[in-house]
Amino acid sequence: MPYYVNVILPIPLERLFTYSISQAEAQFLKPGMRVAVPFGKTKIYTALVNEIHSTAPTGYEAKEIHQILDDFPIVNPIQLKHWSWIADYYMCTLGEVFRSGVPSAFLLESETLILRNDKAEFDENSLLDDDFLIVEALQNQSILRVQDISAIVDKKNVLPILNRLLERKIIVLKEEIHEQYRPKMVRYVRMGKDFIPEEKLASLLDSLSRAPKQRQVVLALFQLQGGNSKPIKVSDLERASNSTAATVKVLVERGILDEYSIQTDRVTYEGEEGKLGGVELNEFQKQALQEIERSFAFGKVALLHGVTSSGKTEVYIKLLEACIRSGKQGLYLLPEIALTTQLIGRLQNYFGDKVSVYHSKYNVQERVEVWNNVLTQKPKAQIVLGARSALFLPFSNLGLIIVDEEHEGSFKQYDPAPRYHARDSAIVLGKLHKSPVVLGSATPSIESFYNAKIGKYGYASMARRYGNVLMPEIELVDVKEQSRKKRMQGHFSERMLEEITEALGNGEQVILFQNRRGYAPIVECTTCGHSPQCPNCDVSLTYHQFKKQLRCHYCGHQALLQDNCGACGSFTLDTKGFGTEQVEQELHTLFPKAKVGRMDLDTTRKKHGYERIITAFEQQELDILVGTQMLTKGLDFRNVALVGIMNADSLLNFPDFRAHERSFQLLTQVAGRAGRTKKRGKVLIQTYNPYHQILRQVSTNDYEGMFQEQLYEREQYKYPPVNKIIKITLKHKDFNKVNDASNWFGQSMRGYFKENVLGPEFPPVSRIRNQYLKNILLKIPSNQSLVKTKNCIGRIERSFNAISQYKGVRVIYNVDYI
Ligand code: ADP
Ligand code: ZN
Ligand code: ZN
Repeated sequence: MPYYVNVILPIPLERLFTYSISQAEAQFLKPGMRVAVPFGKTKIYTALVNEIHSTAPTGYEAKEIHQILDDFPIVNPIQLKHWSWIADYYMCTLGEVFRSGVPSAFLLESETLILRNDKAEFDENSLLDDDFLIVEALQNQSILRVQDISAIVDKKNVLPILNRLLERKIIVLKEEIHEQYRPKMVRYVRMGKDFIPEEKLASLLDSLSRAPKQRQVVLALFQLQGGNSKPIKVSDLERASNSTAATVKVLVERGILDEYSIQTDRVTYEGEEGKLGGVELNEFQKQALQEIERSFAFGKVALLHGVTSSGKTEVYIKLLEACIRSGKQGLYLLPEIALTTQLIGRLQNYFGDKVSVYHSKYNVQERVEVWNNVLTQKPKAQIVLGARSALFLPFSNLGLIIVDEEHEGSFKQYDPAPRYHARDSAIVLGKLHKSPVVLGSATPSIESFYNAKIGKYGYASMARRYGNVLMPEIELVDVKEQSRKKRMQGHFSERMLEEITEALGNGEQVILFQNRRGYAPIVECTTCGHSPQCPNCDVSLTYHQFKKQLRCHYCGHQALLQDNCGACGSFTLDTKGFGTEQVEQELHTLFPKAKVGRMDLDTTRKKHGYERIITAFEQQELDILVGTQMLTKGLDFRNVALVGIMNADSLLNFPDFRAHERSFQLLTQVAGRAGRTKKRGKVLIQTYNPYHQILRQVSTNDYEGMFQEQLYEREQYKYPPVNKIIKITLKHKDFNKVNDASNWFGQSMRGYFKENVLGPEFPPVSRIRNQYLKNILLKIPSNQSLVKTKNCIGRIERSFNAISQYKGVRVIYNVDYI
């Protein structure tokens, strides 16, 4: 009987691929193990086994696999189901989910290496020019990579050349597979085996009497060991004996000490567990906890709607405690890596080293470690705190999923596929594990609150801050009027300056929010009106004063700011709008004594960037922290008396149906950073529109009012939560091609879905990295089958792909577009 295996390749292929295997391999392999397989002419991929069977594929002959890479599955059956759901729902391939779900070290790298065939005999004069260049290069260098070859002949597609040379057996190929992951080894020492019986110690110490430093090291080792055999780190020994690496090395060389290594994980916690004991919940928290547990009992997702600082985290901790007690795994999802920094310490106080962290700023090694700990259900990964990618970990025994700040748009992956929403995918994962799920927020998404209203989700609310701290007082400042009366200094109103002065005078801290980074989003010539644009994208370049640079926030293009206008040559350049860098600079002038910090993408790029700034602010090394929306999300600072919003209007005027909801959430969240302890906090919102409905709702903390109003509008215009939406983006470097292709696609869609198709339309930034974009939006009424809709789009795409003039145009689906 023949045996076959269906595998998931980490590429956007619609279907699974079938390879042939031996009977022994069929008995050994299980779904979720990795195999190396040949693909195409020369490629080798790491693929994931999905199914073992004995049906030959139709249409092609199955190749043999190259190699089995695992002894046991690294992906479990629940994950495979979950990944299939993600692929189906978000209209991408299983391969794309696989690629983005596992740490990249699991996807072995395949590089084609080209070698000269020493046995080949040929006449050099018979070679074509390109071929000759390669042969010549291989005489100087024994191995070339495909990219080297491209460089040598200055061509992208070098496969024809390689094929020619291969056919004539002038070159040979060598596929090399590199395992990227290397566990970190820690060096340990123990006494050399000749010196182990205690009696020998005395004579050893005698013999070392003229080498006092070495003697000291030996004594320190005995002290550290203290009669038991726990491993002693080389670094600890050096510290305890106050000696250098050189001394230890000499002892090792003399055989007195024996050095060895143990594989260790990089994320370790060295504190005590349960230091604080659990806190006693107050009556609101207790009630909320009961409500949540009741929802769980009914098998419902629970929405915890608690105002900022109402103590939601403490409620989660109680839920986690119960989960841990029952021996299950817990997953705690956060929208932003910055938040893990504060929370990790808080969770470790309760759960000690049972908490692991998983997110994209962790390097490959660290991620592999957490993956393996979750896979083998190690106690140290019983609770995983992570950003959205933690959803893909190999949990086998989930007992609780927490999605904190569930309203956050950053839970949705934008690029590349899978464009999944981590909250919604978490709910599906919860179902697969029969695990309860709790969503928490001070400002729930319209979707989740709607689901609670119609009884699909359970609902618990906490309307008061913990310790009866008052909600901050919110004041709207009319910037137009202030400007007219000439009361503005830079971008600061008189009221803002007064309040900052007062807070600083009381030794309290201030947070200032501005939703743009850099110095100014636009540089403009006041003579001719020209403003520098990105050469690759249709946007103005943002001015960053640090380094005097112009930068594109879409593609990263950078240029030096010239002193005069690029168009007319005048020295009359001015800036328009302002970003965090400018706010920071004005503060230095206005409050020269204050210590000012800035938190935005530019200051937090490094791995510990967040930690550094957050800690400095917590330790009150900074008086004022200026930042983008990064600092709105759930951070808990103790001494912040004032939060200032420099300009609310840019949020409100954003051209999107979610702009109002989002502004409400953002402003309420950033306001929530103020006055979290005893004294009532203050929030100042600078705006040109003090009568704007959303600002009114924010200042009176009227979530219900905002919800009702938005729901009405969304129903009117057929947007979520009642309807679903899919955004389809067409993308190509040729403007006309995108235009024609999207017209065709839009027309075809309209044939089926009529007036529920919007566009095609160019987005506000219609060219990014030299690719033109055009969007089509499909609204799907609640009574229309989602599966049928997607199938129909699939059919349209297949016809589309058959049209040669649209070849190369990429079609990108974004289901539940945010
Ligand atoms: P939220 O997550 O709702 O913004 P937190 O859980 O951060 O609120 O709580 C706000 C502050 O109140 C925190 O410093 C927290 O330690 C404290 N707190 C909350 N509940 C309790 C409690 N039951 N006992 C003691 N302190 C609490
Ligand atoms: Zn000019
Ligand atoms: Zn650009």
